[in-house]
Formats: sequence, C-alpha cells, structure tokens
Amino acid sequence: MVICGPHGYEVAGKTVCALLSQSKINYSLHVIPCDDRGKIKPAEYAAGSALLHFEHGCDLVLGVGSGVINDLCKVLSKTAKIPCMIVATAPSMDGYASDSASMEVGNIKCSLKEQMPAAILCDTELLAQAPMHMIHAGLGDILAKYTSLCDWKLSSIVTGEYYCSAVAQLVNDSLLKTVSGAQGVKERKEGSVQSITEGLVLSGIGIAFAGTSHPASGLDHYFSHCWEMMLLERGKDYELHGIQVGVGMLLTLKIIERLKTVRPDMAHAEAAADRFDEAAWERNLRRVFPGAADGIIAIERTAGKNERAGRLRRAARAIDRWDEILELFETTLPGYAEVAALMLSLGMPTTPQEIGLTPDDVADALVCSRDIRDKYLLSSLIWDLGYMDEFVDWLREGTEARRA
Ligand SMILES: [Zn+2]
Repeated sequence: MVICGPHGYEVAGKTVCALLSQSKINYSLHVIPCDDRGKIKPAEYAAGSALLHFEHGCDLVLGVGSGVINDLCKVLSKTAKIPCMIVATAPSMDGYASDSASMEVGNIKCSLKEQMPAAILCDTELLAQAPMHMIHAGLGDILAKYTSLCDWKLSSIVTGEYYCSAVAQLVNDSLLKTVSGAQGVKERKEGSVQSITEGLVLSGIGIAFAGTSHPASGLDHYFSHCWEMMLLERGKDYELHGIQVGVGMLLTLKIIERLKTVRPDMAHAEAAADRFDEAAWERNLRRVFPGAADGIIAIERTAGKNERAGRLRRAARAIDRWDEILELFETTLPGYAEVAALMLSLGMPTTPQEIGLTPDDVADALVCSRDIRDKYLLSSLIWDLGYMDEFVDWLREGTEARRA
C-alpha cells in the first residue's frame, strides 16, 4: 500500500511505483489530497483518507514523503496490524525512526504511540533536492541536540532521571559531524545532507534505545510544542518543526547564558514556593491553551511537580551540585552568538518574530513548557529555583528589543 501526497508522488512516488512494477510486486496507491492551502494536516481527514483507501490484502504500508506522511503511515500500519516503511523525500525532522506519531486529534497536538518503521530509505541525491526550507528544518532539529543533550543530563543531575552516556555520545557525534559540514548545505552538497539525514535517523534510534525522548528533545523542543499548540488553538498555521526547534534552541542557549550569571540559594527557592498560587497557575494555563488546559492540568495531578516538598528537594539538589551544572553548560554548549551566526550565514530563521511569534508567545511558552508533559526541563529547574518570573520578563523584553 503506497501512501504519499501529491508532491511526494511527483518527486519520488512515481519512481517507487515504477520500481515495484518492474519487480512484479503488486501494490495499491493512494495519494492523499492537499487542503485548499496546499497542505496535508496530520489530522482526522488525512488519517481517514488513508484508512478508507486502504486495500485489504496489502501486507506493507510504504510511505513516500516526510514528517506528515511518515506519521500517517505509522498510524495506518498500526491500525492495519502490518509493518510500514518510509521513502524519505526531505531531511526535515527527526521522526523517521521514532515509534510515535505527532498528530492533531480534535485540534489538539498529541504524540501517539505507534510502531517504528521497519525500514527507512534515504536517497541523498533525492534529499539534496528537497526545498531548502525543509533542509534548514532538518539542520535546526539537529542543532537543537546541543541543548537537548544538556537538558537530559541536567535532569539526571537534579531528578535522577535515567541517563545513558552511550546514547548521548551517539547523538552528539552525529551533531558534531553535521555542524562540521553545515556550510555545504548552501550548495546542497550530498555529504552535508547525508550527515543531517543520518543525525535525524540516529536521534530517533537514540530515543528508542534510551526509552525516553530526552536525548533528542529538551526545552528547545518544548518551545516548539507550546507554539504549535497555541497556534493550533488560534486556527493559525505553524512553522516546520525543525525551524521552530532551531529558534527554540537559540532561546535556550540565551537562557542558559543568563542562568550562568546567577548564584541560586534556598531562601530564593523557598520564597518562590511560598508565593506559588495554584489558582493563578491554572488560570494562566486556561488563558494560553483554552482547549488543551484540562488535559494539561490532569498531568499535574499525577506528576505532582508543583508540590512544595518536591520542588524544594529538587532545588536543594541543584544548589548542592551547582558547580557540576555550570561545568555541564561550560563543556557541552557552544555560545549563542556562534550558533546564531552559523544559522544566519545559511539563511535560517533565528528569531521568534521571523516565524510569526510575539514576545508574549515566547514568554508563555517558557512558563508553560514545564506543564504540557511530565518531563523535567531547564525551565522546570528555573521554576524550582524561583527565577521563573524574572526570566520571563527578561525574555519578553529581549524579544521586543530585537524586534525594534
Ligand atoms: Zn525534533
């Protein structure tokens, strides 16, 4: 069962079908139509379209496309209880090898547990001809591993979350390889595109090995998740995952540079815990995510991350090991200016404004990032230590200043 969109059909689907015919492999083809804006939304309509055109008797779902088609094929293959494979048409995101699908269900963004593709076919000659914006997105997603890996280690220091240095090394090696060849992206060099693609696939494998998305997703990704949820609630289009994540990574690097200048202490953390107002916290979530707030608030009921004793325990541990945390920042992260310069030189977006976000969207995303899932992030640490309010004001002002 070959599944693709109109664009994927043109660039690779035709060839896939011709090769299947040549090899005398029977297949059915369904091209999922685009909406009036020329897009395929990873939502009910596209999933229904794939399901209604599913040819019973097919024993494999073969997707031809990138993020959305890959996710739809994972959903279809799990429903039909058959394996799936993907022929990648763009090195745009790190979900190829993941076992989850990022879908919009009832206009709410969610991550559905699916099965991993049995094979991922990446032809670098084809991928190097993908739209430059999609290659930039893939690169943004890889660059975000700087802060994702740091976020994961940070959580292991503060909460004792499982951390695997072998997986971290695997992801870090492909990150460094991608960075060293990044300038080749301008000329669509196949080697550069190959490094990005390998990095994207390895990130997915790293997630599966570690059993957590943390090696490939930290606060960088949570900025993006929050923005998508906000824009979805407003009925607006959002940017490609990797483009948003790249901007989220730069914001995270800026936040870390500021965090390095503070010297946290328990009095500050305790004062913030005293000030915490549960009703105001809930009101804020309902303001930012009117539709998704109930689900987010339910997460807190099981996670209990707002509980006073727990937050002070985490703050105490972070303060105790602050030198180790500073060393982590110092030894694993490049400077904000260095990464921003690299991205600018390639023509990638580097600021929230360029991707249609306001200073309030940035501030709200920082505050709510620690709430949308039960995962300990850099923003969770900032909240535990009692610095959230001042960091939010500083970030909002910084976003405004850059606009001027
Ligand atoms: Zn990603």
